[in-house]
Amino acid sequence: MKHIRIAIDGPSGAGKSTLARSIAAKLGYVYVDTGAIYRTISCYMLEQGIDPTDEKAVVAALPQAKVEIRYGADGLQHMLLNGADVTERIRRPEVSGCASVVSAYPDVRAHLLEMQRQMASADNVVMDGRDIGTVVLPDAEIKVFLTASAQERARRRTLELEQRGTPQSYETTLREIEERDWNDTHRATAPLRQAADAVMLDTTQLDFQASEEALLRIIQERSGT
Ligand code: C5P
Repeated sequence: MKHIRIAIDGPSGAGKSTLARSIAAKLGYVYVDTGAIYRTISCYMLEQGIDPTDEKAVVAALPQAKVEIRYGADGLQHMLLNGADVTERIRRPEVSGCASVVSAYPDVRAHLLEMQRQMASADNVVMDGRDIGTVVLPDAEIKVFLTASAQERARRRTLELEQRGTPQSYETTLREIEERDWNDTHRATAPLRQAADAVMLDTTQLDFQASEEALLRIIQERSGT
């Protein structure tokens, strides 16, 4: 059977991870959250006291940060940093900000590229990120650009942070989202953009179930199943 790779790109907070994880489970595909890889690198920099805006220092430290992905018995993606499970830690807001800065460095992206391609080489995958359809897997069988308005994404993220026990005001969350959007779309290397052959799915007006149905419909149409 043909090996299928589904690339899902889009801005922060568009629901990529939740939707990608859910459809991967439904399709029996491996789910790869590439943002978690950038977050793990960022976690290392923060813990070592390396200033994320110091590109030279970040790049020099890369070889010391051993990043691994493991799938737990729960089927969930766990991130290991030098052998320690950092799956929870990488979700902290300060890690998000740092990831958005260090992911702009070409050497950081190059360092993580092969690992991502490897992950997609063996199994059917659903991979989400910012540059999966454009750079990591330019020949992916199915590409989706998942988006929603910044206001709706901030509303969802505020709710999520509250549920996680790390509440933050809507205004701060919106400002952070807009900042990350700007960083992701304006960097010189692998900026966030819709691949020419990607299908756009805007979930601003859709709840989770409707978004998932729309996504599965796109996959069905594109894969001809
Ligand atoms: O998707 P998530 O919000 O977890 O990603 C964290 C950060 O990593 C993003 O703000 C983005 O800057 C960066 N990233 C990236 N390329 C990817 C995935 C994430 O630059 N493929």
